[in-house]
Amino acid sequence: MQIRSAEFVTSACGLDDCPVWDRPEFAFIGRSNVGKSSMINLLSRKDSLAKISATPGKTRLLNFFLINHKWSLVDLPGYGFAKAAKSEKFDFNKLVGDYLEHRENLRRVFVLIDSRLTPQRIDLDFIAWLGGTGAPFTLVFTKIDKQSATKTRANIGLFRESVLPLIHQEVEVLTSSAKTGDGRNDILGMISAGMGH
Ligand code: GDP
Repeated sequence: MQIRSAEFVTSACGLDDCPVWDRPEFAFIGRSNVGKSSMINLLSRKDSLAKISATPGKTRLLNFFLINHKWSLVDLPGYGFAKAAKSEKFDFNKLVGDYLEHRENLRRVFVLIDSRLTPQRIDLDFIAWLGGTGAPFTLVFTKIDKQSATKTRANIGLFRESVLPLIHQEVEVLTSSAKTGDGRNDILGMISAGMGH
């Protein structure tokens, strides 16, 4: 897939606030610092896109981008804000939860995982919950340029083992590097394939 255009559309603070359109949506989520902004920039080849999501007031919202006037990339707030107040954390999770559970336009969720880490509780909890929603998802192991392929493979193996008992199915896995561009075509290919469904 060639990316010919990528533009910011809107931010939403609830399901009622999401665009009213028939565009297929592909959502990206992960812990803060996992490389989500770099991934969005890599996919769109437009450095300004992820900056929009990072502007004050938008970091906890759903940010919608329209790609090729055809499909939407949805930048979801990162999970695991340990420092957020309890009430704030609840609202934040509800927003993501409502979107992932109920949004009809959603075609696939890309869950970003730092390939350098052994399985983290917070990622596993989120994936267990996501598996229960029935939304198709793919795990993308980021920053693979930072370590050997052997280490990456080992961490992915551990992750698969940890996830299997939680969702009772094999998970789809991709790897990526915003530095080398690895994984870009795989992700765009998956989006292409998911567009018509
Ligand atoms: P976000 O908080 O998930 O949006 O993470 P960022 O995209 O801002 O990335 C966090 C840090 O990791 C930044 O310093 C990035 O330059 C770095 N980073 C992100 N992806 C990669 C990658 O694939 N390779 C390397 N070497 N660094 C990366």
